[in-house]
Amino acid sequence: MRSRQEPLEEQSVQYVKGVGPARAAQLARLGIRSLDDLLWTVPRRYEDRSHVLTVNRLIPGQDATVQVRVLEVSLRRLHGGRILVESLMGDETGALTAVWFNQPYRAQQLRVGDEVILYGHLEPGRRAQLIHPELERLDSESGEPALHTGRIVPIYPLTEGLNQRWFRGVVQTVLQRELAHVIEVLPSELRLRQELLPVSEALRQAHFPDSWQQLAQAQRRLAFEELFVLQVRLALRRAKLALRRKPQRYRLQGPLMDAFLRRLPFSLTASQRHALEEMVTDVQEPAPMLRLLQGDVGSGKTVVAAALMAVAVQSGHQAVLMAPTELLADQHARVLQGYFEPLGVQVALLSQGTSAADRARLRQQITAGRIGIAVGTHALLERAVTFKHLALVVIDEQHKFGVVQRRTLAMKSPATDILVMTATPIPRTLALSVYGDLTCSTLAELPPGRLPVRTTLYTEHDRDGVYRLIRNELRRGRQGYVVYPLVEESDRRELRAATQMAATLRQQVFPDFRVEVLHGQMRPKQKETIMRGFAAGQIQLLVSTVIVEVGLDVPNATVMLIEHPERFGLAQLHQLRGRIGRGPQPGLCLVIRAAADELANQRLSAFASTTDGFRLAEYDLELRGPGELLGRQQHGWLRFRVASLIRDRELLEAARQEAITLVEHDPTLSDPQAAALRHRLGLARLTPA
Ligand code: ADP
Ligand code: MG
Repeated sequence: MRSRQEPLEEQSVQYVKGVGPARAAQLARLGIRSLDDLLWTVPRRYEDRSHVLTVNRLIPGQDATVQVRVLEVSLRRLHGGRILVESLMGDETGALTAVWFNQPYRAQQLRVGDEVILYGHLEPGRRAQLIHPELERLDSESGEPALHTGRIVPIYPLTEGLNQRWFRGVVQTVLQRELAHVIEVLPSELRLRQELLPVSEALRQAHFPDSWQQLAQAQRRLAFEELFVLQVRLALRRAKLALRRKPQRYRLQGPLMDAFLRRLPFSLTASQRHALEEMVTDVQEPAPMLRLLQGDVGSGKTVVAAALMAVAVQSGHQAVLMAPTELLADQHARVLQGYFEPLGVQVALLSQGTSAADRARLRQQITAGRIGIAVGTHALLERAVTFKHLALVVIDEQHKFGVVQRRTLAMKSPATDILVMTATPIPRTLALSVYGDLTCSTLAELPPGRLPVRTTLYTEHDRDGVYRLIRNELRRGRQGYVVYPLVEESDRRELRAATQMAATLRQQVFPDFRVEVLHGQMRPKQKETIMRGFAAGQIQLLVSTVIVEVGLDVPNATVMLIEHPERFGLAQLHQLRGRIGRGPQPGLCLVIRAAADELANQRLSAFASTTDGFRLAEYDLELRGPGELLGRQQHGWLRFRVASLIRDRELLEAARQEAITLVEHDPTLSDPQAAALRHRLGLARLTPA
């Protein structure tokens, strides 16, 4: 006997009776390594075999469960060599036959007089007959419950030769042996308040439910635990941040801010003003700010960030703006230079297009404190740039960075105020799970005068007409994008297809306009030149791979043609479309779709029917899961084993509230009741009592 119970997540499944190294390796491929993994691998679905009928109630042509006694067993060899085991079975109401082909062991398994439960399909016909039914012997002496028949039966997400019956047996063994050792992480008061089952009961019911109602309670309980643990993690992070102290103080009223606002060619929308006020309040706090600014594409986040940077700079600090792509960094630098250089504030762009000598010089000036605002991609800014007095970091298009970078950044300068911005409107459930440690401002309106982009779906047949529509726009002095997505930016063949398409457009379709191509394999300097040419209106049509997706702002561009739309997620399509309709002119989004793909067409119809990014995001979440909305890095985080961000919205809200309350009352989780939770969060080893 082990004197002390090891945590279940440290015990390998290999040593469970009936597993062994080969099966353990197969299970590992399903992500099941420890006993804890095993217990949390809940069934994919269930089959109701709980209504045990008597023989006279059986209906031919239907699936049924029946409890009978074995009356006769025979084994015969048929013509052609097949072996037939046939058994006559019955109860007080009648008799049936069960038959198995080529399973001679059945003849040994069945002994006259045995009490058995059968589950199977009742063949149509006069005589009651079941072919290859599931069979379970009822051993009245041991009192073991039935696993495979006569109950609600679990069906697990198994693959390759792992058999349901075997797996059920393994689960049952572990449940019987270990359930008493499963550690309860939910404090008992919380469980009472939220009416949640104890974890051991929930696990048992999730695998072998006594009723559908018990199953629902079990699932709710297990999902709650997953959501709660994540929310506690986020709440702790926020609480820790709130305890930090930063050295920088801000001057809210000052000449720079005043001049900045005065020189803006427009006035801020109410949403923008409100968001700015929230941030200004934040930066006055003694703890560093960590705020998320959400707003649909084109809602005007940049200028809000710029205003906050003005506050930082007039207070004698430096600010940084990080963008996910070179092109966006370049655009931001131009915009900020336009805002600030006339006011005597130096804005530096650190990009791959910047020569090594220039970069070295800029770095020096940043270190000396002569540059007020630095713009670049994270790759450039995270590498050995030292600031004289950095106070504010703005991260644009946060969803492109992922949690990992956000954290490394926060660690590098633990006292800076951080503003992250995202235009991927994500559903609230997802936002709470990913950004639950951030406070959030939302730009709920677009700047005045914007007309919604009109999106129309076409097929290949309409191509000439589509080109005419583009020509119409260009003739009026406007500009357009043709987006030609590559599956892989590095795929040569794909790239050739895109450049050939650009050549055709340039030489044959629009010879009277300037058409340029932009793709990921071009040198940074080249990309910058083309993008600047487009922004300045010298290039009318930009044929591009997906790199125009985020952030670019050329208000004179009014038309966009999207090729191969089925290669994009809805959120991405929405981002793309957000490149047009950014000025007073209405935008026109033309989509040439492939005819056949049913699911893609459904998605595209949704895309064409609304310009509401949030609705599209909800739809995307349901259709393709969180990975699509957030990108790879953040996906791993959200791999719940039971919880679902779509189904469990209310549960998530409840779990979040409980987590916040808990952390408020006990920020270090030092209450003895929270010991298991601390352990689960990796904050402490559990000391056995
Ligand atoms: P996003 O939120 O997608 O990053 P941008 O910050 O790029 O949007 O802003 C989109 C466009 O709207 C820019 O051309 C910007 O100058 C303009 N803009 C921002 N705020 C306003 C406003 N209050 N009134 C009019 N135009 C605005
Ligand atoms: Mg933007």
